[in-house]
Amino acid sequence: MKKIFNGMAVAALLCMAVSCGRQEKDAKYVFYFIGDGMGFTHVAAAEAYLAQERGVIGMDPLCFTQFPVLGEATSFSASNIITDSSAAGTALSTGEKTKNGMLCIAPDSTTVLNSIAYKIHDAGYSVGVTSTTPVNHATPASFFGHNIKRGNYYAIGQEIPQAGFEFFAGGGLLHPMGKDSCETKSLYDIVAEGGYTIANGYADFQAKKDADKILLVQSEGSDQICPYALGRPEGALTLSQIVTAAITVLERNPKGFFLMAEGGLIDWTAHSQDLAGTIFETLDFDEAIAVAYAFYQRHPKETLIVVTADHETGGIALGRKGYNYDLTVIDKIKNASATTDVEQYMNDQVSIDSVNEEARIGWTTTSHSGGPVPVWAIGTHAQLFAGRQDNTDIPKKICAAMGVKF
Ligand SMILES: [Zn+2]
Repeated sequence: MKKIFNGMAVAALLCMAVSCGRQEKDAKYVFYFIGDGMGFTHVAAAEAYLAQERGVIGMDPLCFTQFPVLGEATSFSASNIITDSSAAGTALSTGEKTKNGMLCIAPDSTTVLNSIAYKIHDAGYSVGVTSTTPVNHATPASFFGHNIKRGNYYAIGQEIPQAGFEFFAGGGLLHPMGKDSCETKSLYDIVAEGGYTIANGYADFQAKKDADKILLVQSEGSDQICPYALGRPEGALTLSQIVTAAITVLERNPKGFFLMAEGGLIDWTAHSQDLAGTIFETLDFDEAIAVAYAFYQRHPKETLIVVTADHETGGIALGRKGYNYDLTVIDKIKNASATTDVEQYMNDQVSIDSVNEEARIGWTTTSHSGGPVPVWAIGTHAQLFAGRQDNTDIPKKICAAMGVKF
């Protein structure tokens, strides 16, 4: 029975690609947004917050939740129902599952798996790989790197110039001098010697935007992530700016482009069970997708936007004991963040636990959970992403939509 089902699923995919192809052109511009750890309920919490902010009970849709195509994807890895971000990233980038902790290396520990970013680049498109996390962190790394251990950041970082993609961006590079700072050459120097211009922040990018290949980071000396959306300092690099910068660089290629953009800090805040952080990272992710949506409106027949997650983080639920879900406390934190250091406020005035208690939010884990994740799509061949799918199907469908051989 299972075999028949799998056979039918593949046949249906091919059939859909062919029948769509009759009416729709190949996608020339593809945006692949991955909300790290963003399950259905992270999105619902953000939408409920927006509704409550204007005094209404309900859920105000985000930009991407209004996309016409909705599906869901499995998230399990080759080693567990609960995946980590490198195994999930490998599934979403290569179309193959691997074991937790491994990055684009097959479960046999030797076979190298290549992300669709390479296939698309080889087909002549420009490619961008971006995140709010370090560029050599699991999810972005799964689009260019290969390593038996996701934590070998120095080795993974060295693959950035080898990949040769036109645009990379993120908070920074993790372990730029190696794990114990014992390397003699910085990853930043290796990337620069590989032909990349390094821009520190968006203003610096604007001055350097005509360079052939660019690595855009918050700062070479920063703590390697883009600052959290809640209480973010003026001038800090945002995912919206990263997407805007990526479009500037990538659309120079008349053939088209593929851009992966990760909202990486949704996962980081959810690991901490930080409700306010999770809501504002999800809203920030939506703002970046709105930049792509504006591009789609300018090129509606040639653009595809896919939004998904690699897994759910935190096992978050709207409700714990009773029927009193209430996000008033989030507004208090947001208002405080305008004038005080939000981290200090969270330490002194409220706590992660008291916020969850007041809002009546439940979390089941400080790790990931194993359920399916949402998939939204709009644009040319968006219909391919409707319904239930395995996470490994998504990169195959992106290639099908672009007319690139998988
Ligand atoms: Zn995580």
